[in-house]
Parts: sequence; C-alpha cells; structure tokens
Amino acid sequence: MSKIKEKNLKKLKRKSFWPSILLFLTFMAVSVVVIFAGINLFTTYIIGVKLTSLHDQAMETGILMERSIQQGEKITYAVSNVERYRRDPSDVYVTDEQGNWVMSTGSSEPLFDQSFEWTLGERCKVYKDSAWDYGQGALDDIESIFELHVPALAHRAFHQAPDLRGSEAKRARWMQEPIIEQQFWMYVPVSLNGKKLYVKCTLQIIRQDVIYIMILGAIALVLLFVPLLFLFINTILNIRMQHRVTKLLYMDPVTGGNNWLYFQGYAAKVLGSGWNSRKTYAIVDLHMERYTNYLSCYGSKQGEELLECMDGFLRARMKRKEVFGHYGKADFGLILQCEGANEEACRQNCYRRLRSLLAELAGLQPERKLHFHAGVCMVLPVNATEGSWYEKRKNVDIDQLFSFANTAQASGHNEAEQIFFFSDRLLEEQSWEQWVESNMQSALAAGEFQVYLQPKYTPTGGRLVGAEALVRWICPEKGMIPPGRFIPLFEENGFIMKLDDYMLSQIAKLQAEWKVQGKKTVPISVNISRAHFTQEGLAEHISQLVDSYGPKHKLIELEVTESAFFDDKDVLVNTVKQLRAYDFPISMDDFGAGYSSLNTLKDIPLDVLKLDAEFFRGEDETGRGAIIVREAICLARELNMRVVAEGIEQKEQVDFLAGLGCDMIQGFYFAKPMPVAEFEARMAADA
Ligand code: C2E
Ligand code: MG
Ligand code: MG
Repeated sequence: MSKIKEKNLKKLKRKSFWPSILLFLTFMAVSVVVIFAGINLFTTYIIGVKLTSLHDQAMETGILMERSIQQGEKITYAVSNVERYRRDPSDVYVTDEQGNWVMSTGSSEPLFDQSFEWTLGERCKVYKDSAWDYGQGALDDIESIFELHVPALAHRAFHQAPDLRGSEAKRARWMQEPIIEQQFWMYVPVSLNGKKLYVKCTLQIIRQDVIYIMILGAIALVLLFVPLLFLFINTILNIRMQHRVTKLLYMDPVTGGNNWLYFQGYAAKVLGSGWNSRKTYAIVDLHMERYTNYLSCYGSKQGEELLECMDGFLRARMKRKEVFGHYGKADFGLILQCEGANEEACRQNCYRRLRSLLAELAGLQPERKLHFHAGVCMVLPVNATEGSWYEKRKNVDIDQLFSFANTAQASGHNEAEQIFFFSDRLLEEQSWEQWVESNMQSALAAGEFQVYLQPKYTPTGGRLVGAEALVRWICPEKGMIPPGRFIPLFEENGFIMKLDDYMLSQIAKLQAEWKVQGKKTVPISVNISRAHFTQEGLAEHISQLVDSYGPKHKLIELEVTESAFFDDKDVLVNTVKQLRAYDFPISMDDFGAGYSSLNTLKDIPLDVLKLDAEFFRGEDETGRGAIIVREAICLARELNMRVVAEGIEQKEQVDFLAGLGCDMIQGFYFAKPMPVAEFEARMAADA
C-alpha cells in the first residue's frame, strides 16, 4: 500500500512538478541567450557603423594627400596641407616601399608586426598602435586624451555644439562622453610617389551607444518578462500543489500528524544514513491500553480527539532527528535517539525517557487516568549489530523492527511494568510461534500428535484404575515437543479445538478397540481446553464424536481446567450439566492453582477433583500445606467427588494421601506419561 502511494507521488512529481520547473528554467535560459545575442548583434552593428565611418575618414585623408602630391608637393607639405583642409584631422605615418620611416605626426606609431584584417565592404588592414592599451580611455582622462591625440567626431560634437545651450547642451555633452576608446592605425591604399600611408583612427563607444544598447536590452527584457512571469507563477503553483499532495499523503487522517508511511520513510532514512551508523536508536511501539473501552465509554469523536492530543504531546517531546507516526488504533511508532557509553547505558537512558513520557501521557486528561505500554527494539551501532538478529542498518526494515517492538509491547500485557525491551528470547518465541502455526495442520494430518497415557493408581494397593491422555508432538525434525510449548499457542489460535477432538477420538477409538479385544478397560481422562467452551453445542458434539467409535461414555472422563470456570460461568455450567447428562464424568483439573474455585464447586456438580501438583512441591515445614490438602479432600468427599492427586513423586506423599482417603494418585512415583503400547502392557501386567 505504502509503495503504491510513493509511486503515485513520484509519478505526480514527474508529471507536473519537474516539467514546469524545467520549462521555467529553459525559458529563462533562452531569454538570457536572446537578450545577450540581441545586445551583441546591436553592439556589433554600432561598431561596424563606426568603423566604416573611420575607414571613410582615413580614405578622405589619403585622397587629400594623393591630390596634393599630384599637384607637385612634397610629402611634408602634403601632410600640412591635409592638416589644413581635411575635416577630421588625425595622425599620419608615412614609410617608403621597404617600410622605413619617412615622416609622421603624433607621438605613437603603428606596430607593423601586430596587424589584423577587417572586412568593411572591402578588406582593410589595421595595425595596433604602439600606445595600445585597451581601456586607456577611462573616463577620468578622456579630456586629456582628446587634446593630446586626434580629436574625433564625438570630441567635435563635445566642443562644437554652438546651438546647444544650458541644460540641453549639458545633457548632449553627457550623452557624447566616450565610455570606451581605442586607437589603431589603418593602411590607406593611395599612390604617394612610392610611399605608404597609415592613418591613426580612434574608435569610441560613447554613452549614447551604451544607452541605446541598454534600452534594447530593457525592451527585450520587458517582452520576455510577461511569459516568464506567467511561467514563474505556474511553477510556484505547481510547487504548492506538490507540497499539498505530499502533506496529504503523509498526513494521518485521525491525528492530523504524521502517518505510518511518513514514519517508515523517515525512520529508514535516519537509520540508513552513514552519519548515524555509530548512534544507538530505539524503535518504540507506544500503545494505549483499553482504547476500545475508552471509545465505548466516550464515543469515537472523543477517542480521535485524544489521539490528536497525543500527537501534539509527542510532537513537543521529540528531539532533532527523532520522529513518530500514528500506526493504527491507539499505537504510535517512535524513533528515539539513545545516548550512553555502552548498550546498557543507552537502554537505561531510553527507559528513563520513556518512563517520564508515559507518566506525562497518563495525565493527559486531568479527569481520567490513561494507561500506556511501550515496547522497545534497540537498534545498535553497526559494528555491534554484526552477527546478531538486528538488521544491518543500510538494509533496515522498519516494519520488522516495529514488529519486534510490538512483540515486546504485547508480551507485557497485564503486568505492572510499562516498558518492555525486545530480546533474543522474544525473537525465539516469535519464530517458534510462527513455526508452530505453519506446521500444526500438516503435523495433525501426518499423525505427529501422539497419545501418551499417564496411569492413575490407588494409593493403597497401587492398582491401576485410570489414566490421563496427554498429547505429545513427535516431530521428525525437532523430536518430542512437550505440550507446554504448543498448547498455549493452540489455545490462542483456536487450533486446540481440532487437537482436543483428535485426542478425544483417539481415546474413544482405543476404548472401543480394548472392549472388542476383550482387554481390561479403565476410565481415561481427556483434557478439554477452556477455548472449547465457546463452541455452541459442545456437549452434543463430544457425545457424537465418542459415539462414532462406540465406547461407554463412563469410560471417558473430561478434564476442564480451573481457569475455564472463570470465562463465562453460565455457558460453562450449562455445558457441564449437559455433558454429565450424557454420562461423561467431569473433573476439575489443577484445583487450587491460581484462582480460588470454591464458589464454582457450589454451582457445578462435578465428579472428580484433581488436586494441583503445586500442593506437593517443596518442603511443607509448617504443615500448612498438609492441612489444606486434608481439608480439600474432606470437602470433595462431602460433595460426593472423587479426588485425584497430581504430581506425586515420593512414597511419603503416597502414604500421606492414602491416610487421608485420596482416591487416586497420578504422578511420576507410579509412572510417567507413556506411549499407548507401553500402557497396554502395564495394564495387562496389572490385571
Ligand atoms: P495437566 O492436564 O495438569 O497434566 C498433568 C501434567 O503434569 C502433565 O504434563 C504430566 O506429565 C505432569 N505430571 C504428572 N505427574 C507428574 C509428576 O510426578 N511430576 C511432574 N514434574 N510432572 C508430572 P504434560 O504432559 O507436560 O502436560 C501439561 C499440560 O498440557 C497438561 O496439564 C494439560 O493442561 C495440557 N495438555 C496436555 N495434553 C493435552 C491435550 O490433549 N489437550 C489439552 N487441551 N491440553 C493438554
Ligand atoms: Mg489434565
Ligand atoms: Mg493438571
């Protein structure tokens, strides 16, 4: 489910988020390129126009000199003539055919080894000026450069604007101020009696040019701004939508805080990060007890408000890099950072922190006390986890770690302690439970559950007068598994009904076979789990099952544990009465263990009382145990019940019970539970 949601979020990002960002960025890049290309083109155009004009001026100078020489003047006179007549005077440099200096004006000269060619309609050759320095015309000394060198167009405009006055003239001068100025020499192809002519030119970019360029840039910017703005707004809206969808995806509908998906993702990121690999964390299952009761009492709205309140409380208690999320019903998952010098110190810190958290949570509603439990799964630094059951950090499975915390939390129900740490023992139990669950059906079908019989003897004379059927799981893989390891699990998962039916049918079959074979028969008791009493029509069911093999009902005694009498007393009393009406003897198993059942004896007519083995464990120095056993036997006698003492291992116990008139003894003193064949042999010997 969570994977699908994340996939959808990624799809959404791909479809709406990234395309709009990309479009915006592309358009922005294109706009920048267009603006720069436009400015570049315009600048090139302006420079082109200026160069053409400079070229024309140089040619004009050349032609003036050519004419002057043709009129018979010498080169020096030609130069002065040019200086007199030409409109735009500039320095000239004259060489002979071999390039030797003949004459020049001005202080600089062309650098003949540094030339390049420009094409301005026709190709023209250009030489660097010996005083070449890009940026020489910085604004500070622009005036002096103009005076020292050749006044150019702009300079003229600057000094010779007779019709411009006042502020208008000031503005015009300001506009004509050069920003960039560069001098170079241009070769002028005219015929000067075998001499070569070079004219010095000054290229100026004036403020007006720059302003034109800036205006062009601004127009382009304005034209591009509208679509850019539209795209920008669109992108922002997309980001906001994306944000909202993410929030919805990670928001818990009940608490309004983080949901489980968020918790999983964040916790995996924290634990999987290399930076955090040396830190110890705790994954916690915080569980509110009896939440269903709370809902029944105060309604679901109040219940949800309580969870919302818990969410707010936890939010305020989380530190940096810690997070929590609502798991479901009244469970929250937390990831806490635990500090400490070693594992035990981290554990202690975590314990203390959780204890104060739970104490505060208990008082969340002043008018009623709330109850909480927490299960903790410690996630140790990477080195310490090697070879242990913990997942390596980088492949961390948050669901599994949380299920460990949940197992720890569930293991502690009904106990006064509130915080439970997950351990290898719990893991073993958990994997054992899983193994049992996945193998029980096939084991039943394969006949791996076998009947063992433990004989019951009379204390005086030691005659075999009965037996109890006890199940043994003979597993080819694990050997013999005692009932204590699987009966409680079967009681939880309901499989006990099948097993009890199976045992009952095996005993009914055995009794029927013994009868047919003419062997001695004794009553055999079969354990009926308390879980069975929830089944409707249990008495008829048992009766039919036994009848399908045909033995007398008297030969099959049904043992009900004492705790079963506390489940639903009315149902139990009815069923027991019906079973007795079918002629099945009923015994109360484990009498005296755990709960007091004297009251039960008043309501239900039973046939046998089985004294719990605990009465006979340990030393009875004060003799109080003996008094209780004596009184229990008296009570049973008064109520017309037979008494079986369980767990008898010593001769003195047998003698003591014989003295009290106990009817039967079931214990290792006489015999341990044994396979059917062995029991048959024992019975034959006893007959
Ligand atoms: P239980 O019905 O009270 O059975 C008596 C238990 O005490 C048996 O343990 C038996 O082996 C043990 N025991 C008898 N005498 C002695 C003794 O002198 N010393 C010691 N140390 N132990 C003695 P087991 O066979 O392990 O069975 C344990 C419990 O499992 C049974 O207690 C019963 O509650 C349950 N159980 C066994 N088989 C079945 C079955 O087929 N169905 C159901 N529902 N429960 C069963
Ligand atoms: Mg029993
Ligand atoms: Mg018992």
